Amino acid sequence: MLNKIAPPHLAESWDNAGLQVGDPGQEVSGVMVALEATEHTVESALASSCNLLVTHHPLIFKPLASISAATPQGRLIKRAFSAGLNIFSIHTSYDIAGDGLNDVLAAALGLQQLRALKPVSTQELVKLVVFVPADHLEPLRQALVPWTVQQGAYCGCSFAASGEGTFTPLEGARPFIGSIGMAERVAEQRLELLLDRSNLSRAIKALMATHPYQEPAFDIYPLLNQGRIHSLGRIGTLASPMRLAEFSAMTARTLSTQTLRYVGDPCRILRTVAICSGSGASLLRDSLRAGVDALVTGDVKYHEAREAEEQGIALVDAGHFATEIIMTDAVAGRLRQMLDLAGHTACGVEVCRMERDPFHLIPPT
Ligand SMILES: [Zn+2]
Repeated sequence: MLNKIAPPHLAESWDNAGLQVGDPGQEVSGVMVALEATEHTVESALASSCNLLVTHHPLIFKPLASISAATPQGRLIKRAFSAGLNIFSIHTSYDIAGDGLNDVLAAALGLQQLRALKPVSTQELVKLVVFVPADHLEPLRQALVPWTVQQGAYCGCSFAASGEGTFTPLEGARPFIGSIGMAERVAEQRLELLLDRSNLSRAIKALMATHPYQEPAFDIYPLLNQGRIHSLGRIGTLASPMRLAEFSAMTARTLSTQTLRYVGDPCRILRTVAICSGSGASLLRDSLRAGVDALVTGDVKYHEAREAEEQGIALVDAGHFATEIIMTDAVAGRLRQMLDLAGHTACGVEVCRMERDPFHLIPPT
């Protein structure tokens, strides 16, 4: 389920998303979602009887030379292992994924007509066609539909048409229908589904496990249809133009942050806005090329602010924490929905509410 929310093949090459600590064979009884694994979030997960902590930031980023309880990271690994807590991080796969963190951020800021800010790859689409006896169509469709791509606002898309299949079982066959040496005609359905190529092998596995025939007949067609463009960041249009000062205040309110800073003329009118959650100031030039009025991100450095000022693009630094903490509710919501659909109603999903921005502000005197 996490791999569907944040497909591993989308991760940046330098990233270390995926299982950080744990046992893939362990049964998950409760999930907590947090921005990162810290002493607070790990203890909070354990106190809530969760044995899976899903985080955005990876616990292990650089290869470890040793795991020592004398370091904060080593203590967390020791605690997680000894308490049976699994830690799984989704990081850049989720940043880039459709319906991922940047789509969540764009929606929060009211951006519409979203498009790619910096395309990193294009989804490869394949058509899977399988022939199945008419009375086995539904179980097969149910097994394969979870692997199909969402088409716009539609999921679970498939097509079936009836026809007639012929075959003659040879010596050594164990036919589901018919007998050795006898030509057979069977009323079959041709089931068609559209898949992301990265899900193909899992779909074929589901097909082989569900199809009643010893040798299921299926075809895989590569397609020239344009798949989804995977991108770092998004560009969107505001529902109505806004002054930079007004947009910045709205962004601070929406993301519940008091540390937002912006660069540019407060009276400048914004129409199109680029966003990149976390640290995205490196996308300043992509934003300039795209001709947007502003870039919203976090972790902006002085010279990047100065460059934005000189290039005439507004830059809104809403903070790394504030642009990413919104992933907790979004991921928890998606997981609850998927667990419900799969009938795993006993497995609860909670959001850790204890995380705070490490930066404090000196209150105005
Ligand atoms: Zn981050």
